[in-house]
Amino acid sequence: MNPDLLRRYLSYYQDLGFKTLYRVQPAPEPVAQPAPPAASPGAAEALLRIREEIGDCHRCRLSEGRTQIVFGVGDPATRLVFVGEGPGADEDAQGIPFVGRAGQLLTQMIENTARKEGVPLLRKDVYICNVVKCRPPDNRTPEPDEMATCGQFLFQQLEAIRPKAICVLGGTAAKALLDRKEGVTRLRGNWFDWRGIPVMVTYHPSYLLRAYNQDAKREAWEDLKKVLHYVYD
Ligand code: URA
Repeated sequence: MNPDLLRRYLSYYQDLGFKTLYRVQPAPEPVAQPAPPAASPGAAEALLRIREEIGDCHRCRLSEGRTQIVFGVGDPATRLVFVGEGPGADEDAQGIPFVGRAGQLLTQMIENTARKEGVPLLRKDVYICNVVKCRPPDNRTPEPDEMATCGQFLFQQLEAIRPKAICVLGGTAAKALLDRKEGVTRLRGNWFDWRGIPVMVTYHPSYLLRAYNQDAKREAWEDLKKVLHYVYD
């Protein structure tokens, strides 16, 4: 064969092979990707939703005697939550937990202990709420069914915040969070667990206002020191 013709022949088939081998693929159709998970709402937004869900609650008889629902107060992004029993007269009037005499003592306990222990912490930096959100008549202890009904919202609040620790104030709050038979005197000063969050039990400030013995006060201060160092060291 004519060498020139042969070269052109080979070149034609080489070129054809190259094109076959490296054929330019059309750009693939964009495949619909699953939407990224929605950014988890911040604790503040979650708390607002819980408050909305509670609404003008009449789920239990405590609603009959209340002036207003006392939901919770403080920093939703906090690492420490205090849980009390239920609003008293001052809280019912103002709509803010722990603002009466017991509340003033709680504020002093938090801020004075923090200052002495070198922890830069004010009341506004923690979150404070109660097991029941409506004032029980004559400040009686909430009944188990009232605690169960309102407790679902407390649990939602705690799940929304998921603090580093929870400090429960008194036997009623301890009962709401911990499946324990012992009273607060036995439980206090010890760590327990609520859904993976460490829980410290201590005396309720109302008890400390009444308590004639100084031991309970000293013990409550010790409990609080433990909590502050655990959370903020
Ligand atoms: N006692 C509580 O348990 N909660 C309050 O908010 C006030 C007093």
